[in-house]
Amino acid sequence: MSKQTDDFFKNIISHAKEYGFVFPSSEIYDGLSAVYDYGQMGSELKNNLKTYWWKSMVQLNENIVGIDAAIFMHPTTWKASGHVDGFNDPMIDNKDSKKRYRADQLIEDKIDRYEKDGKTDKATRLQKDLDDAITADDLVRLKAIIEEHHIVCPISGTKNWTDVRQFNLMFATQMGAMAEEAEKVYLRPETAQGIFVNFLNVQKTGRMKIPFGIAQIGKAFRNEVIARQFIMRMREFEQMELQFFIRPGTEMEWYEKWKATRLKWHLALGADATKYRYHDHVKPAHYANAAVDIEYQFPFGFKEVEGIHSRTDFDLKQHQEYSKKKIQYFDPEINQNYVPYVVETSIGLDRLFLTVLANSLVEEDLSTEEKKDSRVVLKFHPAIAPVKAAVLPLTKKDGLPDKAREIMTKLKLDFNIQYDEKDAIGKRYRRQDAIGTPFCITVDYQTLEDNTVTIRHRDSMEQERVPAADLRNIIGELVSWNNLLEQLM
Ligand code: ATP
Repeated sequence: MSKQTDDFFKNIISHAKEYGFVFPSSEIYDGLSAVYDYGQMGSELKNNLKTYWWKSMVQLNENIVGIDAAIFMHPTTWKASGHVDGFNDPMIDNKDSKKRYRADQLIEDKIDRYEKDGKTDKATRLQKDLDDAITADDLVRLKAIIEEHHIVCPISGTKNWTDVRQFNLMFATQMGAMAEEAEKVYLRPETAQGIFVNFLNVQKTGRMKIPFGIAQIGKAFRNEVIARQFIMRMREFEQMELQFFIRPGTEMEWYEKWKATRLKWHLALGADATKYRYHDHVKPAHYANAAVDIEYQFPFGFKEVEGIHSRTDFDLKQHQEYSKKKIQYFDPEINQNYVPYVVETSIGLDRLFLTVLANSLVEEDLSTEEKKDSRVVLKFHPAIAPVKAAVLPLTKKDGLPDKAREIMTKLKLDFNIQYDEKDAIGKRYRRQDAIGTPFCITVDYQTLEDNTVTIRHRDSMEQERVPAADLRNIIGELVSWNNLLEQLM
């Protein structure tokens, strides 16, 4: 990371904390590694991102329905899905610092370094070596690569490495009060399996016809070997997943369709298109025959935000085998029974949250010849802004607060509104800019006479005088979900 991007990333983290978006978990006890809490602004933003996803998936598509499955599942689920045996990351320890790393990530960091130093050929060759070792599951080769490229531990600075070993990422706990009866259960590492085991329930009760999808938003847990980069890689996080069930043989067509649809969804939020790219997987996971990531250019480089996987009939077939229950669909159009194929879109809500912060946070220089000035603004798309408008009485006296509250009372039926009467008006505008509020409504002496207010627009900072009675329409039009959803039609 260059100094500038490093500073920008630090700014994002400190802004998120200062304005109530994200706090380290149990901070009074010095936090818990890779676990975070969303504060008063963060949970609003997160809810809005969920709503955007849910509406675009479930509401806009008549053949997609949503469910909410439990975090705990029968332990055989994870045998069937392959997670008990195969959900591993290659880890390596440095014997001097006693720090643990993901072997592939150490190598990826080295590739980044070569690229930054202009050693493109070396970077390309190393990428190929890494891909080959990963494809072959060759842990010995991974260690050899680390040694050949003189990769040192960032803490100790030494090359005193252990061998590379596999590490299972699932958290386990016990279910049942008595130790003897207790059964080992896992905290789900992905939400997808809750959809697969409910395939027949939903298909039958919803009378769903293929092609159709089941969507779900929920928590997932992974004991990441190394957690870093703020809410990028957490041990408890949230996923928004769609499993789209299709006729075998049509998977590539749907895979391409979902690939395009999902990128469009990201871009609708207003990001610069050059910040996104596709990254094809060299070695798709054990269940997939094609996989691509949608990557976003974070301050620390392009990284995955969403994965799109053609999961074939792997999961349903596995559950059929392990549960000994037939999981099939009768397709009346071709008069055949089959196990459906699946195309999955899986996005991490927390990573999406980070892209939105990174995309929206700007520091603007407002200096004039007379004085230096600047402001920090979160330029969220208005539909996802945590607070839609702030109502601000110009002064704390002469009945202005009462008038302001009267206006707020009407607006709060439709929108999340803040009331603020503390400090000078300019300072209050800045506070709202910092949390991304699209509108500030100022109530002044003229309001008492003719019931008009000034409305200030966050991005242009322009102010106009409008009748208080028009506020609902003015705000409603700009913050409407339609502005986002229409772009997807
Ligand atoms: P990575 O390669 O970064 O570990 P992954 O390929 O294991 O990610 P998937 O299993 O495809 O990720 O999960 C789908 C999505 O869930 C990812 O695109 C990401 O947005 C999110 N996700 C996965 N792991 C984490 C995590 N530890 N913290 C936050 N989000 C995560």
